[in-house]
Amino acid sequence: MTTALTALHDSNKIPATLIPGDGIGPEIMDAVRLVLDALGAPFAWDVQQGGMAGIAAGGDPLPQATLDSIRRNGLALKGPLTTPVGGGYRSVNVRLREEFQLFANLRPAHTLVPGGRFENIDLVLVRENLEGLYVAFEHYIPFGDDPKAVGFSTGVNTRAGSERIVRYAFEHAVKLGRRKVTLVHKANVLKALTGVFLEAGRTVAVEYQGRIECDERIVDACAMQLVLNPWQFDVIVTTNLFGDILSDLIAGLVGGLGAAPGANIGENAAIFEAVHGSAPDIAGKGIANPTALLLAAGLMLDHAGLTDHARGLRKAIDAVLNQDKVRTGDLGGTASTTDYARAIVQRVTSGL
Ligand code: NAD
Repeated sequence: MTTALTALHDSNKIPATLIPGDGIGPEIMDAVRLVLDALGAPFAWDVQQGGMAGIAAGGDPLPQATLDSIRRNGLALKGPLTTPVGGGYRSVNVRLREEFQLFANLRPAHTLVPGGRFENIDLVLVRENLEGLYVAFEHYIPFGDDPKAVGFSTGVNTRAGSERIVRYAFEHAVKLGRRKVTLVHKANVLKALTGVFLEAGRTVAVEYQGRIECDERIVDACAMQLVLNPWQFDVIVTTNLFGDILSDLIAGLVGGLGAAPGANIGENAAIFEAVHGSAPDIAGKGIANPTALLLAAGLMLDHAGLTDHARGLRKAIDAVLNQDKVRTGDLGGTASTTDYARAIVQRVTSGL
């Protein structure tokens, strides 16, 4: 962030890494660039490879030049990357999280098109991204002639990591003018692993008393309540595995992953992406929906302090979907990726 904002001061442009990605990635990224240009978003893109393109060029889905670019810019917009099956490649997303210590995964869920199962959903889930059971201290214990008789996994949550993620959630709530943060845990059973998170969360919550309300839920009850009455929640903060599951649940409340953006935030770098994958079944057909990546670009604009641009982008998406009724096939429309992007550009340039 500091790097990016200093550069903005110097040249009126914010340098940012752009990874088009695999499958539908380049198509939806083109659409996003079209819209961001129309908005006058001051990004100077440094286009880098990742995924299959990275493998084709140098045998690595996450080339060194891409890592260097993200480290330099501290800001990246990433298209979906295909994880090669076999070949021993580690997940690119996990590598990026670890490499840049992207401790917070931000997943907002907002109703875009009315008429779904739930109306007026407006939730944010903040997931701890580096600790918990995802540290993957795993092994098998052999018994008799079965080498995998017992599967064994150790989770790790630190007080420092827990305080950091909860503080991030509260700060995010303050920034967005939200009213409440809910700590989600399983400290009744996993007393050490998620007890440390809950304890740290309560400590941090005290600092925000009188400004942001705080409550608590056990994860299983939270899952049920999210389905019965999601409107009671505002910002949810939780540990890695629970966050992984609940963030898909809240995406389901607003119609699935098609319009779900995500941000991975660290102290020195932030990477923004659509939650969906590279959709190889529709790649190259020009019918992919770029909304999730557009919303991810909106989060990136917010992160860079360009809140007016972000607001303009979200308003234009809303107008195109709900007033112009220009929609891609996955939302029941007939628009191509480019038609849809042009309709948003039209809204942006006409000032809505
Ligand atoms: P997927 O999200 O790519 O596709 C699931 C279904 O949703 C498909 O039918 C697809 O056509 C549809 N879909 C997805 N995005 C769409 C869009 N923008 N517009 C319209 N329809 C859309 O999931 P998958 O098929 O399980 O994964 C494909 C590849 O993507 C795999 O290699 C996987 O590892 C990778 N992946 C990458 C990321 C990432 O980079 N963040 C995330 C998930 C999956």
